[in-house]
Amino acid sequence: MHAQASSHTTTMTERGSFALARCSCGWTGPARRSRDKARTDAAEHLRTSGS
Ligand SMILES: [Zn+2]
Repeated sequence: MHAQASSHTTTMTERGSFALARCSCGWTGPARRSRDKARTDAAEHLRTSGS
């Protein structure tokens, strides 16, 4: 079964003073100093990885 074939669920992770986005597909965004930029990374990932 491929339940996660097209599911991308992003979550925010904080490491010290950095924030980065992660996705259920295994993608991890770069560490950012601002959450907003990490969110932008997540949004861009969803856009670029969408079918
Ligand atoms: Zn993804």
